[in-house]
Amino acid sequence: MRNKIVVGNWKMNNDKSQTKDLILSIKKSIQQKDNLRVILSPSFIHLESAISETLDTNIEICAQNIHQKEFGAYTGETSALMLKSIGVKTVIIGHSERREYFKENEQILSEKINTALKNGLEIIYCFGEQYKDRKNKNYHQIVLSQIKNVLFKLDPKDFENVILAYEPIWAIGTGETASADEAQEIHGFIRNVIKEKFGNEISEKTPIIYGGSIKPVNADKIFSKKDVDGGLVGGASLKADDFIKIINSL
Ligand code: PEP
Repeated sequence: MRNKIVVGNWKMNNDKSQTKDLILSIKKSIQQKDNLRVILSPSFIHLESAISETLDTNIEICAQNIHQKEFGAYTGETSALMLKSIGVKTVIIGHSERREYFKENEQILSEKINTALKNGLEIIYCFGEQYKDRKNKNYHQIVLSQIKNVLFKLDPKDFENVILAYEPIWAIGTGETASADEAQEIHGFIRNVIKEKFGNEISEKTPIIYGGSIKPVNADKIFSKKDVDGGLVGGASLKADDFIKIINSL
């Protein structure tokens, strides 16, 4: 049985005390369930304190990015080794904001993924189409190439440490969301792409989570679909009450 996963991506939000307060509120209200993983992704600067504040819980802490190189003269960057040394186990790679604002192309993303996996980090690989691709109905092609160009070079064994996050760009931070049926349709397609390349066992084990304006009002419908294994939540993860409701929808 696949794990259910909810990730809160806090992006470049929350100072030190806001981060602490949000973690405390989530910690206070969360109900532990079997097969449920709750992962919070604060900014780099708060990762270590977030890890300390969640030590006595099942809440996990993940990073929003890594640099593709293991060390060196890359001013302002953070390496996989640094993250590991403070106890981070998971990293988000390929978020659309990194692709768009920081020009991270598939070559860079492949290198980041290799570095993360080589260093024992689990990855959450984000991908998804733009609105024009959905409208022109060529989103399957886009999604296929985002998976193929980056993940097809992996060793099948690496999939033990891969979470896929389908995030249609038109739904991120916009209040627009894929309907539950649209989410299921593309998640089923993604699972099939993984099956054709890596086989049934890996495709059945790999979690595929949905991201794009998940809110308490739409979470349970989207999460009820068989190939949707949870969600990557941006805006609504910044409000403890909303985030807890979303977690409880799984
Ligand atoms: C995201 O940033 O990955 C995201 C899904 O954001 P939001 O929930 O705000 O759309």
